[in-house]
Amino acid sequence: MMKNVYIDTLGCQMNKYDSERILGMLSHFDYIETDNEYDADLLIVNTCAIRQLSADKAYSRLGNWGRIKKERKAQGKSTKIVIAGCVAQLEGENLLKKFPYLDLVMGPQNIYKLPDLLKKIEQQRLCSIEDYPLQEKDYDIKRAKTVNAWLSIMEGCNNFCSYCVVPYTRGRERSREINSILKEAKEIISKGYKEITLLGQNVDSYGKNLENKPNFATLLKELDKLEGNFRIRFTSSYPTDITDEVIETVKNASKICECFHIPMQSGNNRVLKAMNRRYNVEQYKEIVEKIRNNIKDVTITSDFIAGFPGETEEEFMDTIKAIDELQLDYSNTAAYSPRPITKAGKMTDLFIDEKTKKKRLSILNEKVKSAHLKSNEKYIGKTMEVLIDGIKDGIFQGRTRNNKVVHLTDNKKYEIGEFVNVEIERVSTWCCFGKSIN
Ligand code: SF4
Repeated sequence: MMKNVYIDTLGCQMNKYDSERILGMLSHFDYIETDNEYDADLLIVNTCAIRQLSADKAYSRLGNWGRIKKERKAQGKSTKIVIAGCVAQLEGENLLKKFPYLDLVMGPQNIYKLPDLLKKIEQQRLCSIEDYPLQEKDYDIKRAKTVNAWLSIMEGCNNFCSYCVVPYTRGRERSREINSILKEAKEIISKGYKEITLLGQNVDSYGKNLENKPNFATLLKELDKLEGNFRIRFTSSYPTDITDEVIETVKNASKICECFHIPMQSGNNRVLKAMNRRYNVEQYKEIVEKIRNNIKDVTITSDFIAGFPGETEEEFMDTIKAIDELQLDYSNTAAYSPRPITKAGKMTDLFIDEKTKKKRLSILNEKVKSAHLKSNEKYIGKTMEVLIDGIKDGIFQGRTRNNKVVHLTDNKKYEIGEFVNVEIERVSTWCCFGKSIN
């Protein structure tokens, strides 16, 4: 008999990919996805531990689901509750104690064991968070129905930035074999996806643990050779790990999109050192210049943290200055959130008060907004290739190769997944507007 599974995914693209793996796997064991929690025989929350807020969201889901489980039990229905992802890995057994109705705690490296674990939790509550080498994907992945497909090329990270939980939750860096990635990419293309986004915490470190030590540029070149009309994106890059060969490859390849996501985190050298980032502002600028000098119309995006422990007002203003000087196209921002397991999370005497962090975050967000508008303005009058990925209120929209959102104002009909050449006529802070010239 078919059973229903409801999955709630919090956090990054890697988690979205993992949820797609979970759903693909469960479809072989008579589960179908439902969007109604009350109908679910299996409730899974795939969690993110980057910020406390995200972990709290997961706990609040579990609280609700405990009530749903009780209600369903009164109707004679059984419900299993699973917490997966980074919070599961970090908190382990504690979660079984904290949430008495929780059936399974499963870390990201244990997903491949899920069918077996589901059988076992019929008998007893379990915690499965052991460290394993990267597992090959045994089952199809139930990908979202969009034009883009995620493809994880590696997991984990060796960098131990002082604020980050990833090395503790996703483990050390492990790359997948090139052939396995190429096989999955071919499968994605054969299913009609028009964009593949390669995922890794630090894609430029790709291959270091593999026998023949293929590098990221080699992988990109192999993917670029695959037949078909599609694009390749990748995220994220560590500033000083980006090689000349990768820049040259992006410049010469036909399918690799001209955009780099390079988290800078702070525009001040003392703060960068305290964050245990292995570069300074000058090195970051050098890499940005090198990329811009080599690749036409390239987009460079970044991440910044406001209110890192001990950050002074002047040091924070260096970040604002850096966004201006570097003319970064877009940046994700966040107020520093202490994670107790990390080095920075233990610097309690240096914590910045919430009000100051909030104020700095709002200044940062204003700067990012104006930088994004300036970046969009560069494209007025230019013709850009747009991949149509949706329609809203009758207006087709899509993204350029360098990841600009474009709304088509010409009232023509397009297919989702169609490539269209668009002349950009005007822009706003968050998107560009134009007409096709096809
Ligand atoms: S490089 Fe990224 S994932 Fe790795 S520790 Fe630093 S912030 Fe975390």
